[in-house]
Amino acid sequence: MKDSLLYKGRRKMLVEKLALQGHFSDKVLKAIGAVPRHIFVQEGLEELAYKDMPVAIEADQTISQPSTVALQTHLLDIKSGDKILEIGTGCGYQCAILFYLGAEVFSIERQQTLFRVAVKNLEEAGYIFPEENLLTSATAAIHSGKIHLFLGDGFAGLEKEAPFDGIIVTCGAPYVPEALLKQLKPGGRLIIPVNKSPEHVSDRQILKEIVKTEDGRFKARDILEMSFVPMLKGINRNLNIK
Ligand code: SAH
Repeated sequence: MKDSLLYKGRRKMLVEKLALQGHFSDKVLKAIGAVPRHIFVQEGLEELAYKDMPVAIEADQTISQPSTVALQTHLLDIKSGDKILEIGTGCGYQCAILFYLGAEVFSIERQQTLFRVAVKNLEEAGYIFPEENLLTSATAAIHSGKIHLFLGDGFAGLEKEAPFDGIIVTCGAPYVPEALLKQLKPGGRLIIPVNKSPEHVSDRQILKEIVKTEDGRFKARDILEMSFVPMLKGINRNLNIK
């Protein structure tokens, strides 16, 4: 699906609306203005792509609403060349935003269906995946940058690529996984929504910013109460692609 004047216009209006909220850096707004979100939502829902609302994607998941993507990305404070780990690839939209900001992106998804959907969407958005085994991992390259996708369980992070300058979790975690704290560089930051109540599954989370200090301690700050799809354990290998 191509970009069009209509979608470009809607994207511009969305950016103007987000800019009015006054929370987001110019470079984050520029990224939202550049990435064609309509390519990433489920087929038939393109009309909703530029409203500030979550939209359904495959496997009963949702792509976070643009203001949430903007907030989490803003908090990550990416510098060109940063190594960023994302937990919850979903449709691949957040990957494209991180990449646009100059990051080398490593993203893990637990659902085989979405892992494949993300590859398809990113390809459609112009990222080039060379022929390779798409069972558990895929690497897209464009210019000199890279997006690496993995089928896996985000609770374990990605030890072999650690440490990371930043880690973003896009699903609601029951607690802060130890592995993610370990895999941060000193000075790095983890942006993670954590369930309000650890005792039971909750659909409300507190978005937290956790910064690893140079001497290896952690400084946490609560940002906002929000709602994300749950972070679940294990890999779901069902493949359900039209
Ligand atoms: N960043 C995504 C948002 C997708 S919603 C986007 O731009 O579309 C969150 C995603 O987290 C879902 O796809 C869900 O399957 C995934 N998820 C949930 N638990 C996970 C885990 N333990 N490891 C990796 N991904 C997980």
